[in-house]
Amino acid sequence: MESILVLTHVDETGSALTKASLEAVTAGMELAKQLSASLTIGIVGGDAGAANALASAGARLLAVSGEAFAQARYASDAAAAEALCRAAQSSIVLAPASSRFARVAAGVAYRLGGFLDTHITALTGAEAIEATRWFYRQRVEAVVSRDARPWFLLLDAGTHTAFAGESGAAQIEPVAVQLPEMRTTVGGFRTPSQGAQTIRPDAKLLLVAGAGWTKKQPDGQVHATEAGDLILGFLRLASASLGSSKSLVDQGGEGQPVLPFLTHLNQIGQTGATPRHAKGLSTCCHGEEPHVVGWRFIGDRRAISLDPNCGWTRGKADVVYIADAFQVIAKVNALLEAAKA
Ligand SMILES: Cc1cc2nc3c(=O)[nH]c(=O)nc-3n(C[C@H](O)[C@H](O)[C@H](O)COP(=O)(O)OP(=O)(O)OC[C@H]3O[C@@H](n4cnc5c(N)ncnc54)[C@H](O)[C@@H]3O)c2cc1C
Repeated sequence: MESILVLTHVDETGSALTKASLEAVTAGMELAKQLSASLTIGIVGGDAGAANALASAGARLLAVSGEAFAQARYASDAAAAEALCRAAQSSIVLAPASSRFARVAAGVAYRLGGFLDTHITALTGAEAIEATRWFYRQRVEAVVSRDARPWFLLLDAGTHTAFAGESGAAQIEPVAVQLPEMRTTVGGFRTPSQGAQTIRPDAKLLLVAGAGWTKKQPDGQVHATEAGDLILGFLRLASASLGSSKSLVDQGGEGQPVLPFLTHLNQIGQTGATPRHAKGLSTCCHGEEPHVVGWRFIGDRRAISLDPNCGWTRGKADVVYIADAFQVIAKVNALLEAAKA
């Protein structure tokens, strides 16, 4: 008989669980139902109060809390996860693939004598548990099952709906942790200011900028500054995340005009990221296969290109606008601005 533990942690506010943690809770609830297995949820954070959001989850709630667990740090996070696993004694451990848990999961699995699989996108099970993940840049989908227990599974974000049950005064069992000697002191976070942050995994819309934005336009001139203003304006007004083609982010190294806010972290595709957004809008990008393979999990795909023979028009997008992206985005920004006013 399987028993399931879902590991969760608080977000930067310290008072709520991260969205990815709440997605893992949904995955745990669904799997527990399918297997008729018991469900325990472990919470790591400075204050166990965040567990109140799980009051209606129908699970046993264990919490490791205290000052040392408010911040991400390998030694304290690994000790917390290990203590929760030992307290729950579960055969299956689900956790979100957040930077906080992805860093400690392999170490914790080793301490428990268990086995870890990562990048899990779906779980099913009646007799045996089957975990799904993608290989070879999302081209091959595999279904994995294992006899080893405890079996740790790190879930990719965006693959389950976030648990949103009614909050209440949850019954929480505190779990004590024997902390090892700490060599790392967390001094705080340094992040780019809100305006400069262009990668937003939780955004509904992905805007992709292609190399066309910095190429010579019909008037024979390059309009890189205008392109940057239009793109940043759109991101601000639509709260969108920014992706890029490889050609555009590579240009900087080749001395060509660049958009200063783009880095290789924005790159979508075979050698870039494969984000999950409900909608995507590609602009000034040709839609070649090594780029489009990164759009695998985008729900609704649209593109604006001057080229009626671009890859997008060859069956890779749901809607293609054969138009000048400078004009279209300027118009869309004006409409969004007017709608906000
Ligand atoms: C091994 C390998 C791995 C790769 N991995 C990746 C990857 O991970 N990600 C990736 O993106 N690429 C990758 N590539 C490169 C990929 O094949 C393409 O070269 C790249 O995606 C092209 O970028 P682009 O479409 O932005 O540029 P271009 O091919 O230069 O296309 C620019 C487009 O902009 C259009 N345009 C210009 N001005 C306007 C305007 N005003 N309005 C509308 N449209 C306009 C043009 O018509 C053109 O279609 C890889 C290639 C290889 C060989």
